[in-house]
Amino acid sequence: MPEIADRLKNVTVSASVAMTQKARDLAAQGVDVVALSTGEPDFPTPEHAIEAAYAAARAGDTRYPPTDGTPALRKAIQLKFKRDNQLEYDVSQILTAGGAKQIIFNAIMATINPGDEVVIPTPSWISYADIVKFAGGVPVPLPCAQENGFKPLPADLDAAITDKTKWLLMNYPSNPTGSVASKAELLALGDVLLRHPQVWIMTDDIYEHLIYDDVRFYTLAQVEPRLYDRVLTVNGVSKAYSMTGWRLGFCGGPAPLIKAMSNVNTQNSGGVCTLTQAAAVAVLEGPQDLLQERARIYRERRDYVLERLTSIDGLRCHKPEGAFYLFVNIEGLIGKTSAGGRFISNDADFVLALIEEQHVVTVQGAAYGMSPYFRLSYATSMERLETGCDRIAAFCAGCR
Ligand code: PMP
Repeated sequence: MPEIADRLKNVTVSASVAMTQKARDLAAQGVDVVALSTGEPDFPTPEHAIEAAYAAARAGDTRYPPTDGTPALRKAIQLKFKRDNQLEYDVSQILTAGGAKQIIFNAIMATINPGDEVVIPTPSWISYADIVKFAGGVPVPLPCAQENGFKPLPADLDAAITDKTKWLLMNYPSNPTGSVASKAELLALGDVLLRHPQVWIMTDDIYEHLIYDDVRFYTLAQVEPRLYDRVLTVNGVSKAYSMTGWRLGFCGGPAPLIKAMSNVNTQNSGGVCTLTQAAAVAVLEGPQDLLQERARIYRERRDYVLERLTSIDGLRCHKPEGAFYLFVNIEGLIGKTSAGGRFISNDADFVLALIEEQHVVTVQGAAYGMSPYFRLSYATSMERLETGCDRIAAFCAGCR
């Protein structure tokens, strides 16, 4: 058979996608599965987004779009950055693509030469390292301990940066930990970055609006204007507006970087679906109060799951301030055997045994670069969370 390209040899299938598929397979066999593995909101897309897409289709807005985004959408994004982040971007500094994922892909493709290093505070979203490898770059994990709220210490960041470092990828609120960086923490990391002018910084702000208690969201380009020319601010409509299937991500950044990313975009896509762009204008310019209402519901779920899991022997939980994940330490269960006779030597064993014996689907910490942990998503109904917690408690109690 003809051969597949070498560049794909080190790229893996995302573990969360694999686990979600496992949940679907079990459900198809009639098993009552509690899927706590998916990274998407369980709320519907707002009605006014659907109406706007329908109206666009009816009005004949069905031809090739401008690849970088329609003027109306780029204007709406410009206003969003100003309104939510006090960030000024010219429309020419704004780009759209098929999800924040494609924005990140285009940025890495536009900048990475073989051997270039990308520093990734870890645990981190699965795709960052794979995208970097795809481009021939070297992902450099920067371990962030639970004791430090899963956030990098400035001295550790300084030590991780070399002459070959091209990017630092930041993601707060974080997938998978839910950690949020404070203004002071961003400024301290910014101080380090000012000393390394060869480094671009990407802030993946996709969970910006999923934030709890009195915590405030800040993004690096906003708090450290001296880094404005080196920061790519990434966001999208997937998580905030429950629009994961519509596929729209966007960014603001320095004009030369945006131009290079636009060149990548023109060769790997013809631009985002016109109906999606119309829907995105509607949510970005429309009423924003649904964001707070949904954040309140997520916070209730977080509080519930956190309380339940904290009371289970063998689990150690960090309190997330944002996103909809819990990243749970299972050190206390390593070396034990489950009620069903499965030896737990690592977090992948734990996650598989939990699926097999209690039909609860989560994702092993190893997939995010830190063990022994598992990631649980609470973007599901309270009723499913109760069942899920009952089953996790029963599973852990059965481990000897
Ligand atoms: N960044 C992070 C940290 C994510 O968790 C996700 C989605 N799982 C994305 C980006 C991708 O978002 P989008 O749907 O806009 O491609």
